[in-house]
Amino acid sequence: MNEKTVLDCAHEIPVLMECDVLVVGGGPAGIAAAVGAAKAGADTVIVEQYGCLGGNITVGAVEPPSWYRQEKTTMPGGVIAEIEKRMLALDAAAQTSFRPSIGYAYDTEVYKYMADQLIKDYHITPIYHCLGTIPYMEGNTVCGVITESKSGRTAILAKRVIDCTGDGDIMARAGAPYEKGGKNSEKLFAGTLKFFLTNVDIPKLEAAMDEDPMSRDPYVHKLFYKTFQKAVDAGEKPLENSLNRMFYTPMPPSDINVNLATWDRDVDGTDVLSLTRSEIKLRKEVMKVIDRFHRYGKEEGLGEAKLRNFAMTVGIRETRRMVSEHMITGREILDGERFEDTVGIFPIYMDGENVKKIPYTDEYFQVPFRIIVPRKVENLLCAGRCVACTRDAVPTTRQMDFCMVTGQAAGAASALSIQQDTNSRDVSVSSVQQELERQGVRVF
Ligand SMILES: Cc1cc2nc3c(=O)[nH]c(=O)nc-3n(C[C@H](O)[C@H](O)[C@H](O)COP(=O)(O)OP(=O)(O)OC[C@H]3O[C@@H](n4cnc5c(N)ncnc54)[C@H](O)[C@@H]3O)c2cc1C
Repeated sequence: MNEKTVLDCAHEIPVLMECDVLVVGGGPAGIAAAVGAAKAGADTVIVEQYGCLGGNITVGAVEPPSWYRQEKTTMPGGVIAEIEKRMLALDAAAQTSFRPSIGYAYDTEVYKYMADQLIKDYHITPIYHCLGTIPYMEGNTVCGVITESKSGRTAILAKRVIDCTGDGDIMARAGAPYEKGGKNSEKLFAGTLKFFLTNVDIPKLEAAMDEDPMSRDPYVHKLFYKTFQKAVDAGEKPLENSLNRMFYTPMPPSDINVNLATWDRDVDGTDVLSLTRSEIKLRKEVMKVIDRFHRYGKEEGLGEAKLRNFAMTVGIRETRRMVSEHMITGREILDGERFEDTVGIFPIYMDGENVKKIPYTDEYFQVPFRIIVPRKVENLLCAGRCVACTRDAVPTTRQMDFCMVTGQAAGAASALSIQQDTNSRDVSVSSVQQELERQGVRVF
């Protein structure tokens, strides 16, 4: 970033809308937050920078929120369960390629439609193509958000705001403390540009997978590596990542969704120049991967594969993490910790670059309310992958279902804090627990 600054003339900013609860960001956390708030009786608005809800699920093409799910896994319920029901009813959910697993992958296009209907059914007001830029504050209290869109710069005023931007954009700009990456400036988790292929010989691919137990095992899930090995044996430069996998959705019978075939270890999702470089770099990488498939992937049914589309955006796994009264740790997750201020549960499941724990048993941990409450700032809660945690907890806290648990809790808590005429942080936690149970969330 250049060091120079310019002065923005202090224009009067028109108010676009006023509401009880404003949710900024429409990914898994944002959807759950909006539903949680609306179900608890709040007049709710959700603002999203792209033209659809879903976040990484839709614009990042991340199909399988619950691929980890096993026969005995304890699930969190709430909006997660409602969305699964809706996607199944739309014939837009299918088993992933892992065995054993009873989790689903979603059709990422149908998900956009499902999410439109979901929020309509709960009378939530959506505003798409709208970027929440900075919080509108009186002292240290957040009273709304300044937005930029085709309508220009406008303000949305709200009694409570929930930051579900994934990156904690509003939380950070409100002055709440946060961390990013490791203490010794280790790199952030890599970003990935996902893509869809069409014209794949699926029976051949399935047969190749059935032959190789590594490709269907949720712990290992290595796929296509033989294709890449053949390329290396033929003297080609190895590509950066060879852990390539796919998931199934009820898509056309010759299409697959490819994950992890490209890595960008340098991308920073809070830096516009870095994001731009990453998009360009990763699209080039994808084309190289497809070229390898054509030349070395015939036995896996990939010889004639064609690019159907890139995901709308490079997928970001990690940026800011809020600093809070309690930062949930990897140890607490693995120990199945219980908390008095629990607002949900999550199975003991981790998926990170160097750690994996699949929930084969019914063990779970509780999610404390404190991890969604920022320091120093009032009437703002923060849900999704930027909640307060130590870095070793990120392999769990970044999971979409976990993000939804924190979102629904933030929504319910924000709505109830208005009814109780108290700050978001001072809401009665027992009333939030009761409300969430009423909403079908497993809290204890
Ligand atoms: C390649 C890849 C594969 C993954 N695989 C899995 C997986 O298999 N299972 C799993 O559970 N998780 C997976 N994850 C992680 C998971 O997708 C994310 O951690 C999760 O989606 C985070 O949810 P969120 O709601 O916090 O943020 P996001 O999904 O990032 O949603 C944030 C939303 O806010 C919007 N937004 C951001 N800033 C603003 C703003 N200022 N104003 C308005 N809107 C804004 C964004 O457009 C987006 O829609 C994967 C991630 C990647 C990148």
